[in-house]
Amino acid sequence: MAPVDREDPSYELRHSAAHVLAQAVKEMFPEAKLGWGPPHDRFENGFYYDFDLPRPLTPEDLPEVEERMRQIVREDHPFRYRVVGAGEARELFADQPYKLETIDELEEGKDEYGEARLGGAVISTYTQDAFEDLCLGPHLERTGQIPVDGFKLLDVSGAYWRGSEENEMLQRVHGTVWPSREELERYLWQREEEEKRDHRRLGAELDLFSIRPEVGPGLALFHPKGALVRVLMEDYWRERHRAGGYDFVATPHVGRSVLWETSGHLKWYEEGMYSAIAVEDERYYLKPMNCPFHMLIFNGRPRSYRDLPMRFAELGTVYRYEPSGTLRGLLRVRGFTQDDAHLFCRPDQMRAEIDRVLEFCLSFLADYGFGEPKMELSARDPGTPEKYAGSEADWEKAESTLAAALEARGLAYERVEGEAVFYGPKIDIEILDALGRRWQASTVQFDFNLPERFDLTYVGEDNRPHRPYMVHRALYGSIERFFALLIEHHAGALPVWLAPTQAVVIPVAERNLDYAREVSGELAAAGFRTEVDGRQERMNAKIRDAQLQKIPYMLIVGNREEEARGVSVRLRTNENRGMTGLSSFVEHLQEVVGARGGL
Ligand SMILES: [Zn+2]
Ligand SMILES: [Zn+2]
Repeated sequence: MAPVDREDPSYELRHSAAHVLAQAVKEMFPEAKLGWGPPHDRFENGFYYDFDLPRPLTPEDLPEVEERMRQIVREDHPFRYRVVGAGEARELFADQPYKLETIDELEEGKDEYGEARLGGAVISTYTQDAFEDLCLGPHLERTGQIPVDGFKLLDVSGAYWRGSEENEMLQRVHGTVWPSREELERYLWQREEEEKRDHRRLGAELDLFSIRPEVGPGLALFHPKGALVRVLMEDYWRERHRAGGYDFVATPHVGRSVLWETSGHLKWYEEGMYSAIAVEDERYYLKPMNCPFHMLIFNGRPRSYRDLPMRFAELGTVYRYEPSGTLRGLLRVRGFTQDDAHLFCRPDQMRAEIDRVLEFCLSFLADYGFGEPKMELSARDPGTPEKYAGSEADWEKAESTLAAALEARGLAYERVEGEAVFYGPKIDIEILDALGRRWQASTVQFDFNLPERFDLTYVGEDNRPHRPYMVHRALYGSIERFFALLIEHHAGALPVWLAPTQAVVIPVAERNLDYAREVSGELAAAGFRTEVDGRQERMNAKIRDAQLQKIPYMLIVGNREEEARGVSVRLRTNENRGMTGLSSFVEHLQEVVGARGGL
């Protein structure tokens, strides 16, 4: 059980709501056995209570429980605290086996959540109305301080007593409570919207990807439509990198242990890696990062100051061990493709290189239609210089370069001292989605460690070896994760340039089918992704199906359109754009796709 934070200002409110919930359930089921119900954070401002009941609760029971809770709140009972002896407590809770177990523990000096308490535990209860519960508090003063329209029960689920599979399965009722109705409503709206946009749900509905037990947790299969979106993301990435002066490199998925010893991953990161694969008396590891390979490519031949800057880019698929409990759709996976690049430059090139990568990053993200990104500069903790790789002067220069580049572009940023990892300062860029959520995407990260470990050098103008500055950077971060964010941000209605099918042509009658195919053929010839819906279905059903599939354009073609060599345009938003000539529709599509962003 996660430790509870009794200092949290919402603690008393949530805890009091949990007691009121317990009273309400006990009134409905006098024979209920009560577990416990400290506040917790599975849901924001959440509370719960566990019950052993004569029958399973269903979601249909929750309104009645809620109504009883409201009654208890309206009656405005005081929460009364009293200390009881172990003997009295056992009498009070004689028919409550879970409470008796807790009383035994309290006597042993553990608190009600099984945590050891200094100086032994006090056995105490809180009573509201006629309901007395074993409890350490704290609580609000009165039930009436819980806003009568500020709470809601969310669901019922199974929960083992004390979280152990060896114990009884109890029923856990979850709720959320807020200081006002407005805050509750805002939270419920957000929650509903998040569920609607959940990329796992949309991923299945739109047939984009799946995660199958036969493959393993956190390892995704991209289906044809999802893979097409992914390919479009990759194509766009390649196009921009080619134009941006990057060299592409390609590296294997595994490498010998010596590589990961040199890079330090086996020493510092082994618990995040898949275990070794034995081949011909050698141990190989799946790569958790691409960097070491790129270092080898750099130092594979002598480099001159004239070769710099060098920029190696790769869509490199890496594998990391993440505990299964932390995996979530494509947002957190065990195998993912980083859009990785490593920049190598001379000290005099550093500022221009950072300016350039920042500019690249922002224009790249803007093409995906997210809101204003938030920048954070992670700097070292100046109080503990011994914790960091690289010299004082290197850190100074790198941090001030990052700050100057942000300032020169007029970007607001937060500088967080002590946030930097040991090997270098960085800028993290968080994107803003349609629900106001922030997500970490791009990173620009200095590294003073790997160039040292791989002994990277270039020959300077002075004919002597010098260490280059090296920067890791990723724009998407991970393609899988960014894909999930796109789905959630756009609620599955991807911008036209990314939509797997951009337009579906719907003939009004059988006799218009040939013309429909002609329209589709012309759009395909102009480079667009189209389909003809020639099924024997009513037109409205076809329009509805296309909208459910989030296809941006529906082109309706009947006799009128055929005669005029036109199409009638409907949007997935259900907007009717009326008839237009086929050639002007092609022009419109070219314009929209060229502009990227959203539609
Ligand atoms: Zn309590
Ligand atoms: Zn790297």
